[in-house]
Amino acid sequence: MPRPILATIDTNALRHNLEQARRAAGDARVWAVVKANAYGHGIERVFDGLRAADGFALLDLNEAQRVRDLGWRGPVLLLEGVFEQRDLELCSRLDLWHTIHCDAQIDMLAAHKTNVPHRVFLKMNSGMNRLGFTPQRYRSAWARLNALPQVDEISLMTHFSDADGPLGIAGQVAVFAEVTHDLPGERSLSNSAATLRHTAVAGIGTAHGTESAVVPRSPATVVSDWVRPGIALYGSAPDFPQHTAAQWGLQPTMTLAAKIIAVQAISAGAGVGYGLSFVASQEIRVGIVACGYADGYPRICPTGTPVLVDGVRTRTLGRVSMDMIAVDLTPVPLSGASSTVTLWGRGPRGAVLSIDEVAACAQTVGYELMCGLANRVPVEVAA
Ligand SMILES: *Cc1c(COP(=O)(O)O)cnc(C)c1O
Repeated sequence: MPRPILATIDTNALRHNLEQARRAAGDARVWAVVKANAYGHGIERVFDGLRAADGFALLDLNEAQRVRDLGWRGPVLLLEGVFEQRDLELCSRLDLWHTIHCDAQIDMLAAHKTNVPHRVFLKMNSGMNRLGFTPQRYRSAWARLNALPQVDEISLMTHFSDADGPLGIAGQVAVFAEVTHDLPGERSLSNSAATLRHTAVAGIGTAHGTESAVVPRSPATVVSDWVRPGIALYGSAPDFPQHTAAQWGLQPTMTLAAKIIAVQAISAGAGVGYGLSFVASQEIRVGIVACGYADGYPRICPTGTPVLVDGVRTRTLGRVSMDMIAVDLTPVPLSGASSTVTLWGRGPRGAVLSIDEVAACAQTVGYELMCGLANRVPVEVAA
């Protein structure tokens, strides 16, 4: 028998979250961002749940090939564009749309031989200072592209540095709008956080009794032709802990679950695991779970990180080992060997443990936990 650990990808939850993103996006078309192997879920595993998207956005040419291999004939966008000249041949062959963020990419396109002109997304660095042309140089880059026979349509794009935080998007939106106001072409600006928070429409985020989840339309509200949600599709709140995934009406798409493989009854004063960093103050039952940091569960998670045992919320005890975690069975007296432990996602009896809560205990974000699911964990798709 294989180790009793399993990740489950929930196709219906993906479908639901895509629908939530679509509702938040108003009339905009929706790129499903599936970079990093669909945030660790596996492109092939999420495809069915996300096929109602208007396009797939990703970084890697291999991943673009995989999306085409799945039979997807619609738009595919390379979010960082090409990395070398010959990548453009694949763009022509697979009909990929690609971002242009620097002069070298324009040079490559100018040297590219193709019968079919390419659709490109010209990226502005509106303040994040990662990729893109500065506002000062943006229009000349646009003019250069516009003069190339290799170029079909030019869309306009930027990315927000703090759509999930206190700075918001107003400053970057103003810069983008000023520079592009008279340029033709479709616009693409919003990631998950901007889509949910700054293009919020009635019904999103209100169903669960959080008024603050709806940010009223304001000058900072973006009208995009294409939004680019990633994390929201995977059921994690882009602005946790300000809002939870449940408050945004999102459902977990990845569940990591394992079984208890041993139970220890320890008395007051006894410790658990490496370094005996947890010491019992009274007699307790400890479950040993078949999941460790080699499965992608963060080693940094301290005693007290939430887990579900048979759907009941309890906590980890002591250090995370490579292959095992200890959990407190006190709140679950009937649990024992072969009880199901949910490390994140959907547990038995409708219980949910948000990946964002576990990520916060690990001083990181849900993104990193999803992407870090280890190769050795078997994965199942629930259709
Ligand atoms: C990753 C990425 C997104 C998606 O971001 P989320 O925070 O996951 O919604 C959107 N646009 C670009 C350019 C990206 O790189």
